[in-house]
Amino acid sequence: MSTNPESAPPRTLWTSLTSWLDVRAGLANYDASKIDNVDWMRVIPFIGMHLACVAVLFVGVSPIAAGMAIGMYVIRMFAITGFYHRYFSHRSFKTSRAGQFVFALLGASAVQRGPIWWAAHHRHHHAFSDTEHDVHSPVQRSFLWSHMGWFLSRRHFQPDLSRVRDLLKFPELKLLDRFDILVPIVLAVGLFGLGALLEHAAPNLHTDRWQMLVWGFFVSTVVTYHATYTINSLCHRFGKRRYETSDDSRNNLWLALLTFGEGWHNNHHHYPVSTRQGFYWWEIDLTYYGLRVLALFGIVWDLKPVPREVRDARTRRSPAH
Ligand SMILES: [Zn+2]
Ligand SMILES: [Zn+2]
Repeated sequence: MSTNPESAPPRTLWTSLTSWLDVRAGLANYDASKIDNVDWMRVIPFIGMHLACVAVLFVGVSPIAAGMAIGMYVIRMFAITGFYHRYFSHRSFKTSRAGQFVFALLGASAVQRGPIWWAAHHRHHHAFSDTEHDVHSPVQRSFLWSHMGWFLSRRHFQPDLSRVRDLLKFPELKLLDRFDILVPIVLAVGLFGLGALLEHAAPNLHTDRWQMLVWGFFVSTVVTYHATYTINSLCHRFGKRRYETSDDSRNNLWLALLTFGEGWHNNHHHYPVSTRQGFYWWEIDLTYYGLRVLALFGIVWDLKPVPREVRDARTRRSPAH
């Protein structure tokens, strides 16, 4: 390992791009061991998703198309935080096997791969948060790396399955993980078909198949992407630390509003098994409210609370850090 740029190995296009994704490694002290190979099979579709959003300039907009984009954001952000995160990653409440499968399908529609992949990486994050082993720490590596570089590298295509043995017991989840692209394709085709139907059935809505596809799928997905990623990048950098956790997680109201409660990230790192992440009534946690509604209908149950002594633990903790 060398910190002298002059003795660094010659760069290829590959390493140049990855070092851009990892600005610190690229500019400050070039460290070849920290340069991960870009996985073009992930990067090209990822760039394509963003480029497809430019099509809004050509397809125009209508209230129904904009409403669909917002609606798809709400459903899929809730599926990511409520199901992929609070259910599959932390098992903070219970549901039936059928409910679990529906939750997995909804989560997969956000185009963030399958529930097993997502949960495995997330459990790894909690085990090594902000240490050198953390896959997406903005403390250890660059903002861009923590935001999106980490999952575009070959190294993180395969998760550590030893962390998700409980999920591997379900063949339907393994199947969904194996063919994680199917659900997004069905969603995109479905939105396109809905737009075609509306063109003929409700011409006064002034929408069409391309608007529904571009706004309902591409724009909504890309916004959901970056809102989700802020929790890995910004929420370990900006906000308040109520608890002296061993990582650098923060509580951030704005990110909590954007991500339906995930912005109470310091709370969450302090006590990850709780269903709610806003620990006080004034800490708005839309996902928790949604899960409470699902519990009223008996769809989920055994939501894990935050014990009062855990919530108040900061008063007894050492102020040193
Ligand atoms: Zn975190
Ligand atoms: Zn978590």
